[in-house]
Amino acid sequence: MPICQNCHHKWSWTQTFKRLFTMRRTLKCMYCGENQYQSVASKKVTCFLPLVSSFIIAFIYLFNPSQTIVYLSSGFVFIIICLLMPFFIRFINNNDVM
Ligand SMILES: [Zn+2]
Repeated sequence: MPICQNCHHKWSWTQTFKRLFTMRRTLKCMYCGENQYQSVASKKVTCFLPLVSSFIIAFIYLFNPSQTIVYLSSGFVFIIICLLMPFFIRFINNNDVM
């Protein structure tokens, strides 16, 4: 889970998950109010996860399952990726490093 680089509070999974779906580049810490930015390495991982899900879905498709199984497994993989996303978020204080 991400840790605020200003007040060093660890964000909970729920707090991180809710804030991931905002369209802002900054994530305001609910403990100290300082803006936090996602680190470059963390962005790379969170961009890579949907790619991994695409490969998993393509792999499932190789076994020529029914469309229902493809849809269900695609939804399942998508949900798992979304649920795992907060574990890969890391913060930095300053956006200049990016
Ligand atoms: Zn903070």
